[in-house]
Amino acid sequence: MKTIPGFDRIGEENAFAVLSRATELQQQGRDIINLGIGQPDFRTPEHISEAAIKAIRDGHHGYTPATGIPALREAVAADLKTRHDVEINPGHVLIVPGGKVTMFMAILMFGEPGVDILYPDPGFPIYRSMIEFTGATPVPIPVREENGFAFSADETLPLISDRTRLIILNSPANPTGGVTPRSEIEALVDGLDRFPDLAVLSDEIYSQMVYDGQEHVSLLSFPSIRDRVILLDGWSKTYAMTGWRLGYAVWPDGLIDKARKLAVNAWSCVNAPAQYAGLAALTGPQDPVDRMVEEFASRRSVIVERLNQIPNLSCRAPAGAFYAFANVSRTGWKAKPLAAALLEETGVAAIGGPDFGILGEGFIRFSYANSTSNIIDALQRLEDFLGRSP
Ligand code: PLP
Repeated sequence: MKTIPGFDRIGEENAFAVLSRATELQQQGRDIINLGIGQPDFRTPEHISEAAIKAIRDGHHGYTPATGIPALREAVAADLKTRHDVEINPGHVLIVPGGKVTMFMAILMFGEPGVDILYPDPGFPIYRSMIEFTGATPVPIPVREENGFAFSADETLPLISDRTRLIILNSPANPTGGVTPRSEIEALVDGLDRFPDLAVLSDEIYSQMVYDGQEHVSLLSFPSIRDRVILLDGWSKTYAMTGWRLGYAVWPDGLIDKARKLAVNAWSCVNAPAQYAGLAALTGPQDPVDRMVEEFASRRSVIVERLNQIPNLSCRAPAGAFYAFANVSRTGWKAKPLAAALLEETGVAAIGGPDFGILGEGFIRFSYANSTSNIIDALQRLEDFLGRSP
């Protein structure tokens, strides 16, 4: 059978392969500490789960509008007003089965042979995979350790040409934890004025996870580019709801109807009880989010301090998300074999930087969505392993 060429180019997310290997080892009785997968280790707050149970009991088990239940779209608009001080028409909000779906849709909408799509390197692997799938040319935007893993407007803007259809930005970022400061975002936005036809996908899925008084600046808050920003956000990370598969996008005027049609073609609507859970998350108490972020902040201090005590390792304090992107380039190991050996020999799951792009070589991503005691244990195993390995 002959499939379209895109399927020979599509990639995947190695974090899932690491998770399945870690699970396999665990089933064999090995003591595994998983610092690989990017999901909060907290339970979904109880009132959110209860809202889904109530929705089932109340009979919300049928299709909903393809764009999502109106109350949820309004709640998203209200939440964006509170957090970013932007007025959004709820009619531009699309409820989707997970934040990832928005990048799938946006890249599908703009990618085709002969055009460029810019994406962060190191960055979430699905960006490049989907760009390749469409036949568009992936153009990496370097994200550097010496810039605190923030985007540099000076390095990004010269990459844009007449061929560029879409630029993907992500702050706070996976895998680096980098947060791009306001000054750099303003310089980027100013530069984008010269390319009025260029669409911007702003992946802000970690928008609530910033530390040390850092600020998350939403691309939606700049009126000059509002009519071409696609905002990706959702519930997965903020409310510990990765398995619920619930996310949202804000699409600009000319695109929301295209996005809606794609949704109708692909999934009809997101599962109704999950949408009611999402509504409870946005309209209910926010202190579970605050507590989770406080806990991440404390673990972040522990993991960064400990990584920097290990000979030949170093790690910048990540400004956001829940990943430490440690520099392992002085250990004598390449990053991927080191990550693989760590799992097989010490039971610590982590992800090699090259799984996130060419500039990921020399780094390993440790997710600190795990208990402090597990983090300490894992880093001791790492230190012992490096002490006895070449
Ligand atoms: N964007 C980034 C940068 C991510 O790291 C992730 C998940 O790891 C997603 C999007 C996808 O989120 P979701 O689980 O809601 O699909």
